[in-house]
Amino acid sequence: LRDQLPTSAIQSKKLRQLDGYVGFANLPNQVYRKAVKKGFEFTLMVAGESGLGKSTLINSMFLTDIYSVEHPGPSARIKKTVNVDTNNVLLQENGVNLSLTIVDTPGFGDAVDNSDCWDPVIQYVESQYENFLDAETRVNRIVLPDTRVHACVYFIAPSGHGLKPLDVEFMQRLHDKVNIIPVIAKSDTMTPEEVARFKKQILNQIVQSRIKIYEFPESETDEDNEKHENRKMKDRVPFAIVGSNTIIENGDGKKVRGRKYPWGIVDIENLDQCDFIPLRNMLIRTNLQDLKQVTNDVHYENYRCRKLAGVAGGSVDKIPNRNPMAQIEEERREHCNKLLKMEKEMEEVFERKVREKKQKLSDSENDLEKRHKESKEKLEQQKRELENKMLAFEQEKAAWEQAHHVTIDELKRLSMESLDG
Ligand code: GDP
Repeated sequence: LRDQLPTSAIQSKKLRQLDGYVGFANLPNQVYRKAVKKGFEFTLMVAGESGLGKSTLINSMFLTDIYSVEHPGPSARIKKTVNVDTNNVLLQENGVNLSLTIVDTPGFGDAVDNSDCWDPVIQYVESQYENFLDAETRVNRIVLPDTRVHACVYFIAPSGHGLKPLDVEFMQRLHDKVNIIPVIAKSDTMTPEEVARFKKQILNQIVQSRIKIYEFPESETDEDNEKHENRKMKDRVPFAIVGSNTIIENGDGKKVRGRKYPWGIVDIENLDQCDFIPLRNMLIRTNLQDLKQVTNDVHYENYRCRKLAGVAGGSVDKIPNRNPMAQIEEERREHCNKLLKMEKEMEEVFERKVREKKQKLSDSENDLEKRHKESKEKLEQQKRELENKMLAFEQEKAAWEQAHHVTIDELKRLSMESLDG
């Protein structure tokens, strides 16, 4: 094709410098500026039994008292049945507005019989989709604030005994409706080894129960080392969390958010002590937009598709139809994740093989050294025995010569002479 194009056409594709400022250089900024002007909207749901530190974590995460005496956290509110409450705050940082809606579920998991306690949560999530769809499909479209739930941080009790049936059931029922991010609450109550074991156990259960939690994407534009950092952060899922509303002084006299115990302190922003910072970074700094996009492209599209198909008959829940775009997006993500998993597995196999080879080499080296040492000792032993025999023989010879008053050499000489004679 290039050969068929006139040279002038090829030349016209060459990069040209303009003589003056036209203004389209500003294009990439426009998206950003528009967003900054409008502000960002984000809806975060926290779910899990009461007392696991949901309110404390939210306050720690946004460095402000979203929950206070005037606005008590979920467990401090009356809870005979599961409620779904929202709390809207406008936050500002460096001139950027974030309209944050926190959705919590006071009473969740607190009853003796917790069957169906996820129903109000599902109803809430779907009613937000419903409102959005309604606004979108009106003849006179109106722009509603986006109140769809973009992420659900699910708190797992630090029992050390894996997920409870309620946790599994909740996640199974909501994983195709909302982005679920599981976290281990109050991880300061476990030792690092216990946390590592607990994380493994939870991930196994999630795979076995076919729960699809939100997969943090690999950043495509980041530098290599940041990508590596991201992957390291990703490897910390489910994040082990410690929350605190108190500022304390750490060992270096630095003021930090932490918890004080008779035996020491936890600095919640210390990566060696918990995963609070990875959670905050992955949630707000790097993936806020992706969470919104997945909500829109996958979860909302699925809802919309089920709903529209449902118009022709049947309820939303019973229709398995899926929007092809959402399905493609989901398949693409699954494929990427599969590839990453394969890459990781291959790396692990390679590392294991190298480790085994090294071990084999060092074993055979040790073996060789051992055998060399053994044969050396054997030879030395033989040498010593021969020397002893020689000594005994010399002594025997001397004794014989003395007894017979003749030396062996003389005897030899005499016998030679008699032979000659
Ligand atoms: P919620 O009911 O889930 O909102 O829980 P709260 O945030 O009200 O916390 C319940 C109690 O747990 C409070 O006394 C908190 O100080 C405490 N708490 C919160 N986070 C942690 C944590 O990470 N570790 C420990 N040990 N206690 C915590």
